[in-house]
Amino acid sequence: MSIQTSDSSSNDYGKALSLIAAHSHISGLGLDENLQPKATSQGMVGQSQARRAAGVILKMVQSGTIAGRAVLIAGPPSTGKTALAMGLSQSLGQDVPFTAIAGSEIFSLELSKTEALTQAFRKSIGVKIKEETELIEGEVVEIQIDKSITGGHKQGKLTIKTTDMETIYELGSKMIEGLTKEKVLAGDVISIDKASGKITKLGRSFARSRDYDAMGADTRFVQCPEGELQKRKSVVHTVSLHEIDVINSRTQGFLALFTGDTGEIRSEVRDQINTKVAEWKEEGKADIVPGVLFIDEVHMLDIECFSFINRALEDEFAPIVVMATNRGISRTRGTNYKSPHGLPLDLLDRSIIITTHNYNEQEIKTILSIRAQEEEVEVAPDALDLMTKIGLESSLRYASNLISVSQQIALKRKSNTVEIADIKRAYLLFLDSSRSVKFLQEYQPQYID
Ligand code: ATP
Repeated sequence: MSIQTSDSSSNDYGKALSLIAAHSHISGLGLDENLQPKATSQGMVGQSQARRAAGVILKMVQSGTIAGRAVLIAGPPSTGKTALAMGLSQSLGQDVPFTAIAGSEIFSLELSKTEALTQAFRKSIGVKIKEETELIEGEVVEIQIDKSITGGHKQGKLTIKTTDMETIYELGSKMIEGLTKEKVLAGDVISIDKASGKITKLGRSFARSRDYDAMGADTRFVQCPEGELQKRKSVVHTVSLHEIDVINSRTQGFLALFTGDTGEIRSEVRDQINTKVAEWKEEGKADIVPGVLFIDEVHMLDIECFSFINRALEDEFAPIVVMATNRGISRTRGTNYKSPHGLPLDLLDRSIIITTHNYNEQEIKTILSIRAQEEEVEVAPDALDLMTKIGLESSLRYASNLISVSQQIALKRKSNTVEIADIKRAYLLFLDSSRSVKFLQEYQPQYID
């Protein structure tokens, strides 16, 4: 079986991106060289005990001593559980996959619970593939791209403006995979159809503006540079095991990566891929990069899911599983037993437990101000004070959501700065959870039970 590993921007990424957008200001755990937390660093504020603990876990992961164990972050809502998991994954390196799911997502009509979990696990394991190809005269070794051809094309020559690594990789890997048989020579112009990924060689004389216009805006153009041909090509790219599964699953095909509708993947496909990847590892062609799988609201899982996780932690290709919960002693779903955080004792036993605590006023203020900067919203100092107060009284997440809403209100009155009045209007327009509960209690008879 020849296993394909073409990478592609998929819907899964889109989903993950929207899930992590609220944490875009976080780029690590903010620790110093002794793994001690700096007050505010890498977007991380306060929560020093939990960050120190996460630093120890980071060391364990790096030294390979975490195997078979999971991490459980327990703490009240909006205390940075997701933020910590993201920070941990980013401290592990850029190529490290991070997957975030909520416990309730596992229960869907389309996939069985274990299939949904398997996919989440495999999305969190990266395979770093090293490809060294022999240099063939005239082969593309480096490609430059110009997304909007800006000059000179009337003379029949493209002016190259940017170097787009993604396209270099995309095209390079497609060639390696043999998806295009054509040999591309230095100076050739190639078009890539974004939708189908089809590569067409247009020859050297192409690139007159008339031809370019006729190709439509969705076509990307690449010109292979001359004089770069003496380098040996070495491509390293990381794809997840799940992506390899989908690409090689005959029932799904790689287009499923774009729709996110991957359905169930047969276990034989996965077995073959595991064998192949193990072989690549053995031959030095690939490295396994265990990523972080973050399962929020883990108490929503049931006993079957917990047994699955217990087993999966022992697997040869296991990611670092970070679970989060805001529950105390509660019933484990699917059983009549109560246990700490709703987790069965055997899983609890192999978990390293970190706790997070509510933030003080100054910490909330700092986080809100970092968020405002990240969202490029200017907030007047007294408006930030008011937002902080709201954050203290309702929740950090609610206050954080007010940033973009108040900005819209400020923009309506043609101001670029959010003032107290904008926050007040946003606060009145959108309820936080406690006011929403109160409202519903008052107007209960008017709602359908
Ligand atoms: P929940 O229990 O509701 O899932 P949570 O504990 O996972 O919440 P987060 O979603 O991580 O909380 O935090 C809410 C928001 O505050 C996010 O935008 C997060 O990035 C930010 N945040 C939380 N803690 C910190 C921190 N210590 N430093 C910087 N930003 C933080």
